[in-house]
Amino acid sequence: MPDMLLDGHAVASRLVSSRTARKLRIKVTPGRVEVVVPDGRERDDAIAFLEANREWVTEQLNRVRRLQTVRRPEKRLRGELLFQGKMVTLQVIRFDRWRASNRVSLEGDVISITCSPGTSTPLVRSLENWLRKQARDRIELHISSVGKRLKRQPGRVYVMGQRTKWGNCSTLGNLSFNWRLVMAPDYVLGYIVTHEMAHLAIPDHSAKFWLIVQCLCPETERARQWLVAHGAHLNRDLSAVLGSSSSGSNQGNTLIG
Ligand SMILES: [Zn+2]
Repeated sequence: MPDMLLDGHAVASRLVSSRTARKLRIKVTPGRVEVVVPDGRERDDAIAFLEANREWVTEQLNRVRRLQTVRRPEKRLRGELLFQGKMVTLQVIRFDRWRASNRVSLEGDVISITCSPGTSTPLVRSLENWLRKQARDRIELHISSVGKRLKRQPGRVYVMGQRTKWGNCSTLGNLSFNWRLVMAPDYVLGYIVTHEMAHLAIPDHSAKFWLIVQCLCPETERARQWLVAHGAHLNRDLSAVLGSSSSGSNQGNTLIG
């Protein structure tokens, strides 16, 4: 049987006889067309049937071709990180058809970074921005609840990347917090926020200061111990956790905006 000419392309076509088939049937696979011919049917019938369905066959061939070019997203696990006191796994999903900027999301105990294979934004930056955003949300919640009880409100609130301090209260009443606290359990973050908020009332670390902190945050001692035990984990280098610092930026020169 000669190749079929479809849309200007020669497509291999063949007849396959079948004892079990009851009707003529066309099967389309990438670059190939088969007509299943039941016993007793004429070969010419089969060819006429194929001709009559030429348009449908072309459509199917195009569909199969399109499906073939859409590759499945490539998923890769990249280390573990504490997030709100729980160990989560980092996953990088490279997706051919991903056209947006890198997206970070949390599902269960997996943080996924979805990106196109040629993303120009380093994955570590996308992850850190996302963690900072989560940190700010939590910090603001705690500020609002402590603020109501303390009857004080801070000036500006900064979420920063300082490695040496977890939080700070300036003489102007501005507060700054280390975004890495979002890796700690929520009561630890709550304690640091309470501590800095309490400085709005009492700038020093006097007994009266600690009394206020203890009163607003009964988990103060436990939180302080947690930070002593796990502070080093919070200061881990994110790019080391992600496996390599260049995982996002040196993947070729393709820029997809
Ligand atoms: Zn202090």
